[in-house]
Amino acid sequence: MFESLRQTGFCGEIEAEAALAPLTTWRIGGPAELLASPADEDDLARALAWADGEGVPWRVLGNGSNLLVSDQGVRGLVLRIRRVLDQLEFDGTTARAGAGLSFPALANACASRGLAGLEFAGGIPGTVGGAVIMNAGWHEHEFGNRVTEVRWLDAGGTVHSFNRKECRFGYRTSRFRSDRGVVVAATIQLEEGESGRIRSQTDMFVDSRKTNQPTHLPSCGSVFLKPPGDFAGRLIDACGLKGRRVGDIQVSPMHANFFVNLGRGSADNVLELVAEVERQVRDQFGVDLVREFEYWGGEEPSVRGDQVPDLLDE
Ligand SMILES: Cc1cc2nc3c(=O)[nH]c(=O)nc-3n(C[C@H](O)[C@H](O)[C@H](O)COP(=O)(O)OP(=O)(O)OC[C@H]3O[C@@H](n4cnc5c(N)ncnc54)[C@H](O)[C@@H]3O)c2cc1C
Repeated sequence: MFESLRQTGFCGEIEAEAALAPLTTWRIGGPAELLASPADEDDLARALAWADGEGVPWRVLGNGSNLLVSDQGVRGLVLRIRRVLDQLEFDGTTARAGAGLSFPALANACASRGLAGLEFAGGIPGTVGGAVIMNAGWHEHEFGNRVTEVRWLDAGGTVHSFNRKECRFGYRTSRFRSDRGVVVAATIQLEEGESGRIRSQTDMFVDSRKTNQPTHLPSCGSVFLKPPGDFAGRLIDACGLKGRRVGDIQVSPMHANFFVNLGRGSADNVLELVAEVERQVRDQFGVDLVREFEYWGGEEPSVRGDQVPDLLDE
């Protein structure tokens, strides 16, 4: 596979049987059969066309901060977008950011320019692409409210542009969570503000996490979405599950919706603990918790560009 991808003219880095655990914030998971970091958008389109033509399953990796990779790893191609496609341009109060740019780096660049609107992003350790996919947010703040346009490559390598409405942003979701393709850039609308004030608000968002969340340990952030009218952490805590452990995965004693890796935690440990917490919360409160993180394991993603849903359905 390595040689076959290289022969297409793909010029980014390629690694076979590459460890994925260090590329996720949970520090969990087996290897990728092939890990490739495209050098630019053309390179990305080349890799997608190759995978489509060869019938190779493929997935996209941002900063791995909302992701659980199976202990067996994944077959096929993993396209790593972090730190590639990471350009950033400003035009007045508009920013155009590549999908591989770090989300906190974008927030910091906006603060430095006196542009307000992304202060909440300071402590969200994803990429811009991952933040689009997940509509990353913090309480009432959501990235989708700031995004005006998303540039997206479909599984066949064709470019599409979606306005905010077409992105179908929702609570920690967007159309891109199910559509097969790659977010390559986002256009973001900001507001003029005072740089010092924006910077101190950005810092405040980061600092408030340090007192409420176990940011010193590997995790994926919140394990479950917020159930209507309640908090997953409150329900888990009320079940007496803080500190509960399966192997080296623990329900954080600091914040019950964070499951931390104490060292040698596995994906199987996570899935077992998640299932137990779901069961107990359902039994005690009748609430079905919904998982926020993505899981790479089991079923392989569909591989053909012609399986992409109709893009003209707006
Ligand atoms: C300590 C901590 C705190 C967190 N706090 C928050 C928070 O306050 N709010 C919040 O919303 N989230 C939070 N998160 C979760 C996470 O940071 C966000 O969901 C983030 O947006 C994920 O981005 P990523 O680049 O890491 O995506 P990844 O985890 O790499 O990927 C997530 C999914 O998106 C897909 N994907 C990623 N990039 C692309 C792309 N360019 N094109 C197509 N598909 C892509 C992947 O295939 C995968 O399915 C937190 C996580 C941690 C570890």
